[in-house]
This record gives sequence, C-alpha cells and structure tokens, in this order.
Amino acid sequence: MWLSGRSTPDFRTINDFRSRRLQNQIQDLFAEVVRLMHRLEYVSLQTQYVDGTKIESAANRYTFVWRGAVEKNKQKLETKIKSVLSDIKQAIKEDRKAPAEQLPGKVDAHRLREELQQLNERVAELGKKEQKQVKKLAEEHLPRLEKYEQQLEKLGERNSYSKTDEEATFMRMKEDHMKNGQLKPAYNIQISTEGQLITNFSLYQRPGDTSTLLPHLQQFQAHYQTQSPVVVADAGYGSEQNYAWLEEHQVAAYVKYNYFHSEQKRRFKRDIFHAQHLYYNQQQDFFVCPMGQRLEKVGEHKRTSELGYISTISRYQARRCQGCPLRGQCFKGRGNRVIEVNHRLQRLKARARERLLSEEGVRHRRPRPIEPEAVFGQVKSNNRFTRFRLRTLAKAEVDFGLAAMAHNLRKLASKGVKAFEEALERAAAGLLRPHEQSGGAADGLLAHLFAFFNPRAAVFQLAA
Ligand code: SF4
Repeated sequence: MWLSGRSTPDFRTINDFRSRRLQNQIQDLFAEVVRLMHRLEYVSLQTQYVDGTKIESAANRYTFVWRGAVEKNKQKLETKIKSVLSDIKQAIKEDRKAPAEQLPGKVDAHRLREELQQLNERVAELGKKEQKQVKKLAEEHLPRLEKYEQQLEKLGERNSYSKTDEEATFMRMKEDHMKNGQLKPAYNIQISTEGQLITNFSLYQRPGDTSTLLPHLQQFQAHYQTQSPVVVADAGYGSEQNYAWLEEHQVAAYVKYNYFHSEQKRRFKRDIFHAQHLYYNQQQDFFVCPMGQRLEKVGEHKRTSELGYISTISRYQARRCQGCPLRGQCFKGRGNRVIEVNHRLQRLKARARERLLSEEGVRHRRPRPIEPEAVFGQVKSNNRFTRFRLRTLAKAEVDFGLAAMAHNLRKLASKGVKAFEEALERAAAGLLRPHEQSGGAADGLLAHLFAFFNPRAAVFQLAA
C-alpha cells in the first residue's frame, strides 16, 4: 500500500494477477528470490533437506471418480453393447438367411459409432425392435461409453480424481477431521529447505514421495544451474532408483530406507536367520544358512517401478529344510526356504547405511526434523495454509509459491534488521552495483532496496 501511494487494487485485479499472470511464472519468481537470498548469504544451496506434505485441493470433498468403478462400469457396458449388437446382427441374418456377421472383438466409442453408422444405412432391413435397440445404443450407450473413456483419459496413471478439480488426486491426509481415514482431493508438495528457508518446491499428483525426489532435484538443478552436493531425506525416499541417481550425480545422500531404524535394534542385529545376515559367496553366487546349507540361485525376475525403473530380483533356495532343528526359528513357509535378493539395492543400502551412521551423517540427520517439518508447521499451522484456494495443478503451484515466498521473506525479516542491513551492504559492496549489473528481477529488487530505501524501513515493511 505504501509503495502504491495508498491506491488499492480491486480484488479482481489481485485475483487476475494471482491466477492468470503468475501461472507459469511463479517458479522463476520464486527462484529469483532464492538467488537473492543466496547472494545475501542466507542460504548456501549446498544442502537440501527434502520432505513432502499433502495439502487439500480447493475441490469439493465428495466429487470423486475412482478408476476401479469406471473400469468396472465400462466393462459391464461393453458386454451389454456387444450383446445388443449381436442380437441386431442375428436378426438381420435370420431375415436375409445370410451367414452371421462378425462381432467386434473390442467395443470402444469409435467402433460403436462406425457400427451405428452402418446400421443406420441399413435401417430399412431392421425390424421395429432392432430400430429401437439402435436408437438406445446411439442415445444412451454411446454417450456413456464416451464418458467412461474420457474419465480414463483424465485419470491417466492415477487411481482417482475430483470432478471439481480434475487434476487433484484423492490422497490420505494427516489432517483427518472425521477420524475415519477419509481420502481427500489433494496435491503432494515437496520442498527443500536450508536454515528453515524454502529453496525449492514442486507439486505432484501422485501421493507417494519416492517417485517425486528425482524430478524435484532436477528442478533445483534447472533453477540454480547446480545440484546441492548434500541431500538429506527420510525413509520415504529410499528407493533403488533414487539411490542410483544420487550416486551417479555424485550427491552425498543422507537418505534413509525402510527398516533403517529397525536395523539398529538389538533384536535385528541378533537375528542370524535374516536374509541380510546370511553369508554370501559372491564368486559362486550362493548364500549359506545358519545350518551350513547352501541356498543356490534358482532364478531371477524383473520388477518395474511406477516410473518405469527396472530392478532385478534374484531368487535363492535351500535344497532340503525338512528335519532341520532350526526350521521353526528360520522361516514359516512350506517346503524349502526361499529368499529374494536385489543385489544392487543391497549395495546401495549398505552405502547409505554407512553414510547415515557416520559422524557427518548424524550431524545431517539431527536437524532434519526441525528443517522441512518446522517449515510445514509454519506454513500449515501458523499461516493456516491447509487448503488451496485455486483449482488445477498450475494454479495450486501459484498458490503455494506465494506462500513459500511469503514464508521466506518473513523468515528473513525475523532474522533481524541488523543482519539484513549487513547482508545488503555485503551484497552491494561485493556483488552488485545498482543499475550497472543486472542479473534479473532479484538484482533489481536488491538494488532498489539498497539505493532508494532505508534498509531499516524496508525490513519493517517486510515484517509488517
Ligand atoms: S530351515 Fe533350511 S535354510 Fe533354515 S537353517 Fe534349516 S536348513 Fe538352513
């Protein structure tokens, strides 16, 4: 208000700016602010603490479309259409004493439209009953079939969507006001933080965190032309694909995996029957059980992840477990013991374990709960950002982007006037010359802040 000379924009202007003009711009704007924080030395961009949360979409809660229901109804309808088409063709055949015409193997809307066109051309050959059936096919069944096909197209890889925000997916939320595990239309938000400042954010339609890590880190790289050498994340991100990518890009990953904490317990360490504790002969590719029997390789199979990553699982089996005195403790299944091992994942997990348990690992793991978790607490609980105000993925991104920038500016202001003044002076002396060296919107903002405003006043404006 002070900057605009107390003239107040209409709410439509604000809304238009937020929902239309900021679309596809918000990530660049956000990155500019982070680059400014980097120049002011508030963030080093050397470490990313990554975590995710789900925030409810602006869609109505009870407007779900489930893949299972759509597929089931579509199948029923297809069977019905096939049967009606078969009846009509049978009637024509009996009329003309001709051989029966072939039924379409698979009925989709396109095929049905063609069939109807052919039948309409031969309407004179059809009896009253068949004409009625053709009419029903055209007016009832075809639109329903088209609707199911459109719904499946909208679903894509997802299992659900909301009718009032088709890009939102139904997810299980932490905030469960009904206490019944109800799923709500939401977006999965991933953030990277450093010193409780958000350095990267991205939104996803998938509820799982595992498959979001790589696109999230790639976005960080695209924004700042560098990848942070250290990434810290919880067990939700510890997959073979993520570990392999991080290793390939020489990122020191302090990323836990499932059972990392269970592995630290005495009970696990003493479990001599656990597949992880069996002796493995790498040269001859076999395991040895506690009774000294070999578990030889009996095959391997491939497993494809959600993102198309292929893992190889090897299968090993003991020759004879019958009569073994340790059988009760060893395994519960029938026959001889079988274990499945993903050797690549085992190697990557061993590397991750070594890192996580190192002195450096403990130092990085310690602040993780107070990094992204605290930021989510600030944004969701203190700033009451518990539901998006705009619909569709692109607009929800704008909504969260503004909240993330506001969080960062508030955090900077809370760091104190003196620190901000010092940072501005440092930046102005060493990195920036107002009006001479323009590196983007952030440089301009910094130059203007320093040249035209009293920094103290500027900080009070931010804090207000
Ligand atoms: S049950 Fe089979 S695999 Fe387990 S210890 Fe006995 S012989 Fe070995």
